[in-house]
Amino acid sequence: MKIIDKLNQKGIHISFEVFPPKTDAGFANVQRATDEIAKLDPSYISVTYGAGGGTSKNTAKIASHIKDDLGVMSLAHLTCASSTKEEVGEVIENLKAHGIENILALRGDIPEGMTFPDGDRFHYAYELVQEIKKHGDFCIGAACYPEGHVEQEHKEDDIRYLKQKVDSGVDFLTTQMFFDNDIHYNFLYRIREAGITVPVLPGIMPITSAAQMKRSQELSGTVFPRRFLAILDRFGSSPDAMKQAGIVYATDQIIDLLANGVNNIHIYSMNKPEIAIAIMNNLSEIIKC
Ligand code: FAD
Repeated sequence: MKIIDKLNQKGIHISFEVFPPKTDAGFANVQRATDEIAKLDPSYISVTYGAGGGTSKNTAKIASHIKDDLGVMSLAHLTCASSTKEEVGEVIENLKAHGIENILALRGDIPEGMTFPDGDRFHYAYELVQEIKKHGDFCIGAACYPEGHVEQEHKEDDIRYLKQKVDSGVDFLTTQMFFDNDIHYNFLYRIREAGITVPVLPGIMPITSAAQMKRSQELSGTVFPRRFLAILDRFGSSPDAMKQAGIVYATDQIIDLLANGVNNIHIYSMNKPEIAIAIMNNLSEIIKC
């Protein structure tokens, strides 16, 4: 089944994300986390793709396990910056061979020291979207950035390029993490004005430690609101308290989104089923409405 068909159905749709193991030895642990998350009956589970492309086989393996053994729709991420066009084509064919119908098409971060662009690689995600379409009838998702992509100086340009990407054949978008919902509402208004009408899933990242916050900030350049910083200041040095507060903060963001008419939410649960479970427990009655 295609994710876009699910998102077009009435009701609230919650999805989760896991990342594949770097080595085959770590496979069982990731599989265990995935199995726990699948018990929450999510609309789908997405599986990230290692920036260097080295974990691509594990992405396909985990995505197949989710779909075939757990009966949950899966979304395989795919990046193109660190692979040649030929290698990307092979990965798409491998996903097809595994019966994977849903792909999140990403450029990926540019590997350090690499001359970019280079003739043998796709430069932007929109080219990857076009390539995926040549390989078959996939449902294609893509990334978007409510605070603007870190490499882009002007938000208007970012939205213009987002429109180009969506027009290339994107069925739905998932946002980068954000911690102030007003930023998301503002972004939605701007992209709708620009003529981007596909479903947008806000990406909610439960931050459960000070180290994770630092990593997230470095990765995405996101702004942490004063309310979040106060939580970190007060509870950051008590791991259990910070974990609880981070789960509540993410839950609060989700409740606000749902209350304001957003029906599709993506949770960056990564490989932590206990966090996914805690959030879903907090929402148990809310998602029935
Ligand atoms: P693009 O859409 O190509 O945009 C990249 C930059 O180029 C932007 O600044 C954009 O404005 C600009 N641009 C786009 N088109 C043009 C054009 N025609 N001309 C000039 N400039 C242009 N990374 C991983 O390695 N693995 C993952 O699994 C992964 N999953 C992710 C999931 C989500 C939901 C998100 C939000 C990000 C994810 N990332 C992942 C990170 C992502 O790969 C990086 O943010 C990357 O830097 C940009 O990827 P993109 O697909 O958004 O690129």
